[in-house]
Amino acid sequence: MRSIRALQEIIFPSRCLGCGQLGLEICSSCRKSWHPHIYRQWSQHLPTYPIYSAVTYSPIAGKVLLAAKENNLAIADQLIYKALFHSLTFSLRENGGDFLVSIPSRKSVARTRGRQFISILASQLSEETGLPAYENLEHTRRVRDQSSLDAKSRFDNLDGSMKSLNFLSGRAIVIDDLVTTGATLQEAVRALRNGGIEVAAAVTACVAEPLR
Ligand SMILES: [Zn+2]
Repeated sequence: MRSIRALQEIIFPSRCLGCGQLGLEICSSCRKSWHPHIYRQWSQHLPTYPIYSAVTYSPIAGKVLLAAKENNLAIADQLIYKALFHSLTFSLRENGGDFLVSIPSRKSVARTRGRQFISILASQLSEETGLPAYENLEHTRRVRDQSSLDAKSRFDNLDGSMKSLNFLSGRAIVIDDLVTTGATLQEAVRALRNGGIEVAAAVTACVAEPLR
């Protein structure tokens, strides 16, 4: 095994996910931008729910998310997984919750990537915490690309775009990779509540400065 690993290192040398420097998968300098901490905020919409995140969004965090989502890099997955686990641990301590519900990517996106990235991380969280993970949300209509929209338009754009697939009894913890305005989380929470499911909290790996 060791020699195979050594051979892989020669063929595919490890590079820092943040800056590309040869060596560790995340160098000590970039590690400063990916240092799990805990951030708690409350959703803007009532009834409010807490949102827990572990890493502030930065260009380096952006590269880690992209490496996991677009390039399926296992080491990037693991960094995001650890950040999610950190957020989830705090959330469970303060709010409890009975099961995890991940926010799916659109089917076309998941097809291109070859996997539902967040669902896979949610199953790993499930194994470690013993809480069941369900794929309970579905996108029901097209939405505009969010990147050029301000906060208010993002909420309007997503409103009514997801639905809950099955009733689940107990309190859900919603899982996603990144929270920016909270519009995606809010739509997931709205869909779950509309399906009669109570929401304990939302948990993400990264948190960006909210847009105005
Ligand atoms: Zn680096």
